[in-house]
Amino acid sequence: MENIYNFSENEFNDYFTSNGEKSFRSKQIISWIYRKKVKDFFMMSDIKKELQQKLHDFFYFPTLTLVTKSISNDGTIKFLFKLEDDNLIETVLMHQEYGYSLCVTSQIGCNMGCMFCASGLKKKVRNLETGEMVLQVLMVEELTKVKITHIVVMGIGEPFDNYDNLLKFLRIVNHPLGLEIGQRHLTVSTCGLVPKIYEFADFELQVNLAISLHAPNDKLRNQIMPINRKYNLEELFKALNYYYAKTNRRITIEYILINKLNDNDKEALELADLLINLNAYVNLIPYNEVMENSYTRSSLTRQRHFYDMLKKRGINVTLRKEQGSDIAAACGQLRSKYLE
Ligand code: SAH
Repeated sequence: MENIYNFSENEFNDYFTSNGEKSFRSKQIISWIYRKKVKDFFMMSDIKKELQQKLHDFFYFPTLTLVTKSISNDGTIKFLFKLEDDNLIETVLMHQEYGYSLCVTSQIGCNMGCMFCASGLKKKVRNLETGEMVLQVLMVEELTKVKITHIVVMGIGEPFDNYDNLLKFLRIVNHPLGLEIGQRHLTVSTCGLVPKIYEFADFELQVNLAISLHAPNDKLRNQIMPINRKYNLEELFKALNYYYAKTNRRITIEYILINKLNDNDKEALELADLLINLNAYVNLIPYNEVMENSYTRSSLTRQRHFYDMLKKRGINVTLRKEQGSDIAAACGQLRSKYLE
């Protein structure tokens, strides 16, 4: 049997046409599943009996098991889900002024090995299937009764290391007859898999791209992000310039502020120089301390000083107020706690 949430419109089309049906059936199915939230083919009244049975025999509707749910003081809710094969994933719901934003996990574990990140310590077990990413959205909506308006693929995992499933996921949540989450409300974050940045420039949806930069020179970036030894800053920025030229979409640069490691005047100046010719938007994020290492968060004074230095040099920058840190909502901490 097939997990129905793995199917984008194209795949439904293939399924229907190879079964001698018209491809408009795909649109009907998508609207039943994602709009009307019907999980029983026999209730899909505009589909003939014979086809209902065929669908019933071919597809199934999986679920995720809720293991724990923690609610932060600021309203952020973190879900720990168990998959059908007992692997655990985290999903975080954040209430913003502009709506509800969901932080989705793309892999079980991660192979990128960033030194500051709790997820990276547990090696990748496997990629999530498209349907397992889609289910995070459906389950959270079902459990909380909210309508998710934004998605950030910034949970555990490196989305560009699960590229095909990621693209399918984006197409499904964006589908106009389904969840209909706008392309510009979708954000994918990568640590910098350069070949995929080139490919992503050709993706048909206008999705936001965020780059986890975290260091403005190769020496420091090599030290804290092993991916930089494979694709250094020069190659990364070449790809980002290409991406911008091709898509005309402003790139988000994420920069976590780690006390005295990457938050000195030196790095602020280097960062400003690096970004001067790129149409980018810098998101400064106070580091979330984790048990797994000894990095600490920059003081508020240092955060503001770093921010001011960029601002003064004409860089588009915001200092993010962190959410959910009292419930370990950041970055794989809940899963890693649970695994111990
Ligand atoms: N692999 C992707 C997406 C997952 S990580 C990427 O690298 O972008 C989501 C973001 O959280 C990344 O910017 C990552 O560097 C950051 N991050 C990881 N650990 C963190 C921590 N302890 N505090 C704050 N941000 C962290």
